[in-house]
Amino acid sequence: MTTDTERQYGQWKELYYEVVSTGLCTGCAACVMTCPRDVLEYEHPQYHPYNVEESTAFDNCMHGERGCDICAKACPRFRLWEVESDTALFGRTRLPEEVFGIAREVVLTRANDPAIQAVGQDGGLVSTLLVWGLEHGKIDGALTSHVSKDPLWDCEPWVATNREEVLASAGSRYTYAANALAMKEAEKRGLKSLALVGMGCQTSMNGTLSARSVAKYRRRITLTLGLLCSKSFTYPGLMVGKIQNDLGIPLDDIAKVNIKGKFQIWRKSTGEEIDVPLKECQPFMREGCTHCPDFSAEHADISTGGIGAFQGWTLTIVRTERGAEWLKEISDAGWISVKDVAEDPGVMKLLRKMAAKQRERWPVDSLEGDARAPGAVPPPSAGASAGPDAPPKEQA
Ligand SMILES: Cc1cc2nc3c(=O)[nH]c(=O)nc-3n(C[C@H](O)[C@H](O)[C@H](O)COP(=O)(O)OP(=O)(O)OC[C@H]3O[C@@H](n4cnc5c(N)ncnc54)[C@H](O)[C@@H]3O)c2cc1C
Repeated sequence: MTTDTERQYGQWKELYYEVVSTGLCTGCAACVMTCPRDVLEYEHPQYHPYNVEESTAFDNCMHGERGCDICAKACPRFRLWEVESDTALFGRTRLPEEVFGIAREVVLTRANDPAIQAVGQDGGLVSTLLVWGLEHGKIDGALTSHVSKDPLWDCEPWVATNREEVLASAGSRYTYAANALAMKEAEKRGLKSLALVGMGCQTSMNGTLSARSVAKYRRRITLTLGLLCSKSFTYPGLMVGKIQNDLGIPLDDIAKVNIKGKFQIWRKSTGEEIDVPLKECQPFMREGCTHCPDFSAEHADISTGGIGAFQGWTLTIVRTERGAEWLKEISDAGWISVKDVAEDPGVMKLLRKMAAKQRERWPVDSLEGDARAPGAVPPPSAGASAGPDAPPKEQA
């Protein structure tokens, strides 16, 4: 049996008590995706991993007892995840002023293909990159999400392997899909080189897989595309409680949703836009978002958002060398238009403001960092809120 001091990262037991039960778990499912013994599963829409092993209690793992630490290594909220990820991806920790993470450049982009423009949430950059990658042999699949049919208008992980599937998955849903779970399907289909799309909570596994040498999945995920995000909502609360029951909008009549200072819903039947003040949606924010300090998907290869003055353009933060190469390739090939971010003077200010605000969610007294990393969030304090109750074993 391996003791905690011999093991560098801890196992499911430490992950459970330090992340899942403290409310730091965002529900990204990196632990479930990487578990080599398949003893972790995922509760949706509670958005939490749980142990299904029959021989141990819910908070322990037989393989962990024997030395397996993969789930904790993969977790993008375990211990010094931010410092380790910054160092692995960028060769240094961030400076205090790098409040939206380390970046090479920020630009505005828009798909030149009208079909992608039509379905993209903002400028369609994410879908353009995926289609480019699939059609040029750079990836053989994308771990992304689409609107579910049952239940209607939830968001579920899926693997897109061609242009039609990418276009069908474009746009934003504001409930949560743990896109990494689509890896199981990708593995069944023998797909080896994958792009991962997701919010910061999900794309930070780009950093932890590299930093902590989870080699199999570090090699397999060859591009991560981050979505800026201040929160997502529970399906029962937002879609069923608020939209269907309170507002009386049948879920099969929703054409599109968006958040631009308010929650916007477009009806299929009438084309009408219905606006809901964000404060009315606030009660349905997922618990996993309440401690998330990462607005700007700070460890993705490329992070994307829709803030700023230019509707129909994607705010694009290029972070890594491979991100820069992908963007240059599609730009040189004429697949996207690129605008200097200086054309929208307000957007950088807004990005910094939203990123700084969200960093206050991390449960520490001070966000000044610790001695090892002046700009980074330190390890969580004991003040992290009590998280979900331990699941009864029969659930697991
Ligand atoms: C929950 C959520 C909150 C967001 N909040 C903000 C914000 O506060 N400010 C901001 O500037 N931008 C925010 N965004 C990002 C923005 O909405 C766009 O996704 C981003 O600008 C990329 O636009 P695009 O046109 O390039 O992407 P598209 O080409 O439209 O591609 C979007 C990709 O995102 C995937 N996706 C959509 N919904 C989800 C989901 N719920 N879970 C996982 N994957 C999903 C799709 O499958 C698709 O691959 C948010 C996105 C989401 C999903």
